[in-house]
Amino acid sequence: MQFIFPPQEQTVLPIRGSDEVFPVNRVYCVGRNYAAHAIEMGHDPNKEPPFFFQKNPDNLLVEGEGFPYPAMTQDVHHEIEMAVALKSGGNNIAVADALDCVFGYSVSLDMTRRDLQAQMKKAGRPWEIGKAFEHSAPCGALVPASEIGHPDSGAVWLKINGEMRQEGDLNQLLWKIPEMISYLSDLFTLKAGDVILTGTPSGVGPVQRGDKMHGHVAGVGDLRVDVI
Ligand code: MN
Repeated sequence: MQFIFPPQEQTVLPIRGSDEVFPVNRVYCVGRNYAAHAIEMGHDPNKEPPFFFQKNPDNLLVEGEGFPYPAMTQDVHHEIEMAVALKSGGNNIAVADALDCVFGYSVSLDMTRRDLQAQMKKAGRPWEIGKAFEHSAPCGALVPASEIGHPDSGAVWLKINGEMRQEGDLNQLLWKIPEMISYLSDLFTLKAGDVILTGTPSGVGPVQRGDKMHGHVAGVGDLRVDVI
């Protein structure tokens, strides 16, 4: 087989303490997975359960690079999230078996063009232009579950220029990680290399060029990204 042009490079994530890298397949995101964030966005978490959308693998931005303020927006928001990286997948995965699919975890950001997302919501159109743009998913090095286990509680926070903006706890997730893997596997065929952003706690807000974002997930680590 001969390609008519060279294929795009495989997106990879670094692994903490290893020279090996994690090849990324799909990137799934969970929306409104913390009740306080659903409420701040004007929704009732009791009436509207979480839901899923996707980003593109090449939207990932590896820690160490700046986040370029994107085009066509005046209102880019930060959303701190824990990411889950899969080493195996399948369909109809039972909740009890779901954590066996997990390679590890990292600290990530679901950067969002909130103004474009709001326009699309209002028009009943898909969210891609608000969510799945270049560099929209900064992601730290993966930490293997074999080292840290499977975190289900602990602080999740984001500071901007040293000031606390978002604070939550993994124990507030509406869809727990095994549940979201199981549910996604009913909708899609999950594969090794898939990454799931697990939703953001309350306190989302805009960033400006020059801002220094510092995210943290207890037991997983830190992510530092500058807006450039
Ligand atoms: Mn999000």
